[in-house]
Amino acid sequence: MRASAHREAAQEAVTTDGHRVEVVANIGGLDDAEQGLANGAEGVGLLRSEYLFLQRADAPSEEMQAEAYAGIARAVGTDRPLVIRTLDVGGDKPLGYLPMPAEDNPFLGVRGIRLGLARPDILRTQLRAILRAAPVTRLCIMFPMIATLGELRRCKAMVEEERARLGMPPVRIGIMVEVPSAAILAEQFAREADFFSIGTNDLTQYTLAMDRNHPALGNEADALDPAVLHLIRQTVDAAHRHGKWVGVCGGLASDPLAVPLLIGLGVDELSVSVPSIPQIKALVRRHAKSECEALATEVLSLGTAAEVRTRLTKAVKD
Ligand code: PEP
Ligand code: MG
Repeated sequence: MRASAHREAAQEAVTTDGHRVEVVANIGGLDDAEQGLANGAEGVGLLRSEYLFLQRADAPSEEMQAEAYAGIARAVGTDRPLVIRTLDVGGDKPLGYLPMPAEDNPFLGVRGIRLGLARPDILRTQLRAILRAAPVTRLCIMFPMIATLGELRRCKAMVEEERARLGMPPVRIGIMVEVPSAAILAEQFAREADFFSIGTNDLTQYTLAMDRNHPALGNEADALDPAVLHLIRQTVDAAHRHGKWVGVCGGLASDPLAVPLLIGLGVDELSVSVPSIPQIKALVRRHAKSECEALATEVLSLGTAAEVRTRLTKAVKD
């Protein structure tokens, strides 16, 4: 990156009417973290911890995980957030050392937190390894695929037990909002979670009942569908009523077309792919929040994803 581009990427993303949006990175390991920070990321909004678990003959030990998380935490530093998502695998991403029964519908089966709760030995080991990074960074622990409040409560109890055992400081505990039930009950979740991060990839697949990897449906599963956007609005409003922040870490946050819409919907944090960071920050700086809010209100009245795309394309041109 040229020096001037580097200087620009390092600046905060503030709209023309003075509203700050945090732009952070989606990462899969230390290299991504370093690259993301060099690109101007203001922290990490999603560490997909799967990378430590895949392509191995056995589960990674607490020690090995702790070393990996601490390395990333040191790179991120004490002033920036690091959101670590617990293991999100399942029938669609099987692990050799974790035999699971075959499932007819792996996306509706034992994946994400369901696997963690079915195998608390694995989840607790991971939680201890993550918690050991708490003194080094602004640590946030995030649980994937939360569908019920009962799941969140069980997860929080586990964090609390392991934290007390290790004598670590309190950490923020949040959830991915990527199952429609979590968005529908956002009001109740917002009372008990410290933050939300909306996973638009899965939220779209589950809202539209379209497999995100399906060769014939993948392109139809559009996160700009008004049904998904209404769930985002509802989630943001509920979180803000309870003084909690909301990010978007699904692919929609990295889509330049969606940036003014997400600002208008009130999203506080955009967690985007490492290469997209400078562009997304630059886009935030180009818009006024008040105009984005008017745009979001208009878009929420539309009926199809195609109509939303047409309206957002016009907004970019104007
Ligand atoms: C999502 O579902 O939007 C998300 C960010 O999680 P993943 O893509 O890892 O399922
Ligand atoms: Mg997901």
